[in-house]
Amino acid sequence: MTAPTGGLTRAGLTLADLGELANALDDAAAYREPGNGHCPDCTKTEMCDDHAGDQEAAGSYRRLRARLSEMEAGE
Ligand SMILES: [Zn+2]
Repeated sequence: MTAPTGGLTRAGLTLADLGELANALDDAAAYREPGNGHCPDCTKTEMCDDHAGDQEAAGSYRRLRARLSEMEAGE
């Protein structure tokens, strides 16, 4: 039972580090975000499993990035 809490503080990340992370997440989200129907398996209304997964990952990166921005602004 040694689940880490407040890991960010323990890692000693600075605001500059958080900014760097935010940039990295931007890149990651842009990289994973699928374009519009650029694969034969995607239809106009539904994405193939691969691209649906990419979309989900991109969304998750963007949410995390938004939280980082809040931390930067908040303190
Ligand atoms: Zn696809």
